[in-house]
Amino acid sequence: MTTATRFAPSPTGRLHVGNIRTALHNWLLARKHGGRFLLRIDDTDSARSREEYVDGIRADLDWLGLDYDGEERQSKHLASYEAAFEQLRAAGRVYPCYETAQELELKRKIQLGRGLPPIYDRAALSLGETERAAKEAQGEQPHWRFMLDHGEGIEWQDGIRGAQHFDPAQLSDPVIRRAGGSWLYMLPSAVDDLEMGITDVLRGEDHVSNTAVQIQMFTALIAAQDHAAQMPRFSHEALLVGREGKLSKRLGSLSVESLRDSGIEPSAVVALLARLGTSQPVEAILDRQILIDSFDLDSFGRAPARFDETELERLNAAVVHQLPFDQVKDRLPRDMDEAGWHAVRPNLASVPEAADWWQIVTGPIAPPAFTEEDRAYLAEAARLLEWSPEPWQALTSALKGATGRKGKPLFLPLRQALTGMDHGPDMAELLPLIGEEQARARLARAAG
Ligand code: GLU
Repeated sequence: MTTATRFAPSPTGRLHVGNIRTALHNWLLARKHGGRFLLRIDDTDSARSREEYVDGIRADLDWLGLDYDGEERQSKHLASYEAAFEQLRAAGRVYPCYETAQELELKRKIQLGRGLPPIYDRAALSLGETERAAKEAQGEQPHWRFMLDHGEGIEWQDGIRGAQHFDPAQLSDPVIRRAGGSWLYMLPSAVDDLEMGITDVLRGEDHVSNTAVQIQMFTALIAAQDHAAQMPRFSHEALLVGREGKLSKRLGSLSVESLRDSGIEPSAVVALLARLGTSQPVEAILDRQILIDSFDLDSFGRAPARFDETELERLNAAVVHQLPFDQVKDRLPRDMDEAGWHAVRPNLASVPEAADWWQIVTGPIAPPAFTEEDRAYLAEAARLLEWSPEPWQALTSALKGATGRKGKPLFLPLRQALTGMDHGPDMAELLPLIGEEQARARLARAAG
């Protein structure tokens, strides 16, 4: 079967590093096997879902260059969930419950107080017809739970975690539908994965116990629907933590938007997140095909992956140093050409900084005050400046001969006079951009 993966965000906010990583890995997995990568908008929670976030998610994926082969929305599949619910009900796998949130909380507290795991006690199962009818006559609407089969252990071979075992008796029957009829995440997701032919569910470790429950749902649905579809393979990746090793709030709020605004390149985000938490080296790889070909679930570790913003910045600089002019020209100062980009590129930590260095070329600049000796030296430089295709080499060798200076005393006053800075891009590349007239004027001015 051709690989089909999905990225299933809830449109309740913009994407942040944690979910970009999940999206990226699903994209890499699909692309590696020549399969399909779907965007599935999990918008069953109509109170919290917003259209602007759907647009934002699309824009974020677009910026990252993660193209998808189709988009689905859960709000368009409500009829399928209804049908699946009826099938599970007919098979005796869902049951109505009437406990209020406060009652459930109280039960939990009592269990915890006795040192017991807070598992739902299935009290609603023992309600008789008349008791239910009485509750409904009083206007109490039920919510619905999926009944786990306690008969058999739940097992799967996880693509990252290896063999997994769960005792269903240690899990609560999950609520799948609220009073009033709206859906919780669990059932719609399993229904969609089957209907959309998803072969691989790759998501965060926080979903491991959901998978245990969903495996029983998949099994029940496949049996009830006589489905040709198969249970997907499951893989759960270790969570992303901050540099200090803890799940950080900041990480959860580090959005694609904020990364973009701080001058981070999509290729740097992708290169870092593709391999973070794996045994493969994190490198400034711009070629997506290399990342696709080397993507391998076997290389994923079980320990939390540490996301370090300084590592992202370092990688970003290494990415910027490789970016061709065509890819950045729309973000550069208007009159900056390819030669300008090549001159400043090695000095950049981010593309927007190009404008600061370009300022050196176009001026005005603010050179420091020079000693009398350096002023005489710079006057000599102004006299000796001759324009040629390589004016810097010509000027410095002429000055060397004329003054006997070498090393720093030879170069630094020139750099300061010509750029106003002590360091910066290679002068051999900068001087032709500054141009003869301007270079002469700057030297003459510095010479006083
Ligand atoms: N909407 C779910 C979430 O964002 C999807 C989880 C899944 O991949 O199944 O957590």
